[in-house]
Amino acid sequence: MINVAIDLGGTRTKVGILKEDNLLGYSIEDSSSQDSFTVSMENLTNIINRLLSNNSVNKNEVNGIGLAFPGLVDVKNNKVISTNEKYNSAKGYDFYSWAEGNWNAKFKIENDARAALIGEWQFGIGKGIDNLVMMTIGTGIGGVCLIEGKLLYGKHYQAGVLGGHFTIDYNGTKCNCGNIGCVESEASTWRLKELITNHKMLDGSLLAKAEILDYETLFNAARKNDKLAIDLMNHSLNTLAAGVVNMIHAYDPEIVILHGGVMKSADMIIPFIQDYVNKHAWTPWGKVKIVQSSSIDYSALFGMNYLCNS
Ligand SMILES: [Zn+2]
Repeated sequence: MINVAIDLGGTRTKVGILKEDNLLGYSIEDSSSQDSFTVSMENLTNIINRLLSNNSVNKNEVNGIGLAFPGLVDVKNNKVISTNEKYNSAKGYDFYSWAEGNWNAKFKIENDARAALIGEWQFGIGKGIDNLVMMTIGTGIGGVCLIEGKLLYGKHYQAGVLGGHFTIDYNGTKCNCGNIGCVESEASTWRLKELITNHKMLDGSLLAKAEILDYETLFNAARKNDKLAIDLMNHSLNTLAAGVVNMIHAYDPEIVILHGGVMKSADMIIPFIQDYVNKHAWTPWGKVKIVQSSSIDYSALFGMNYLCNS
């Protein structure tokens, strides 16, 4: 069975062709926020067709097209319900006709963090574990759960998927979602850029000369004992750790999976969050293990492949 899986990210879009649960080929493209969604979908169609042809797959061999989308989605009707700044015009887009018209294939949509969680549950570090929590850390922050082998949806498809928007500080920063002091509005990459750029200590910091303001830059500067980088790193790690404790209290997982490009600095992140969770999470049965996802780039693609086959 051949499926095409798409992970529409805030900064990068990944497209993969999967055959019998193996990744045949993939492509990673920059996501342009300026393009209209229709233009984005036309580009996506071309990327998929090029990938199929490069991997000698005929259009009519495609079973399903799976889209991991950064926002709230209605998985029964395959629609985008609500977006968070990015891809606002995706609401109302007829994905079903797009997949059927181009490849005569079925279509599945899922929230991107949920898709990554499914990938890790079926093929990655969460394999065989039916109670999972995952935090995805990137342009935004996702927080999702699997309870007793089931995804949580709720009345409006938003249960178990908004862990990045749990309130962490009621005096905090306004988030794109409308809330104040979310995990995302305190510790996502978009917020980190603002925190660095507006900081009064920036002039004397290594971060003032950095071309890219992301977690990799921050952790590298912190390793060199840069005072501002250490302060901001501590702020971010405490925020993420408190967010993880909130999700542990809400969902009772066996393990917590941390996911995203930021995990290149897993050696600094995992021990900090594990220690915080050991000290502060109320889990009388034992300690929740904090682990890194087995794949930074492909978890969501494998998750969408699984959904296309189920
Ligand atoms: Zn929020």
